Amino acid sequence: MKKRIYYWVAEEFVNKPIISEVILKTKIMINILMAKIKPQESFLMLELNGNENQLNDALKILTMYGEVEDVPKMIQKNDDKCIDCGACLVHCPVKAITMNEDFKVIFDENECIGCKNCANVCPVKAINILDL
Ligand code: SF4
Ligand code: SF4
Repeated sequence: MKKRIYYWVAEEFVNKPIISEVILKTKIMINILMAKIKPQESFLMLELNGNENQLNDALKILTMYGEVEDVPKMIQKNDDKCIDCGACLVHCPVKAITMNEDFKVIFDENECIGCKNCANVCPVKAINILDL
């Protein structure tokens, strides 16, 4: 299971190695998608990857030291604009875009890493990417 979260570290814990603690205690994999770290402020966008127990344990630890919020959809395709040309599909580095049996282009938000390749090549500007 993958889960993307925003994570604000409480001021008193900004110097604590929280991510390392979560990984060591839960063995979960954490991908840091974004980090804004200042002396008194720390904000991260994380992708947690593990089983349900690992995810729950990781979230418990994270909430001990800060606030967690689910990340909304990373990619949005405007189906009214999309002409299913497939240009985005061939430029996706993680195969998050596929074509179904009806030749409709489908996005898998769980796999998307927000690289914006698809949005940049779309001829009709049908794709919006959450701005990180
Ligand atoms: S590049 Fe744009 S128009 Fe073409 S399939 Fe992708 S989203 Fe649709
Ligand atoms: S933003 Fe990048 S990873 Fe996500 S669907 Fe588009 S090309 Fe694929």
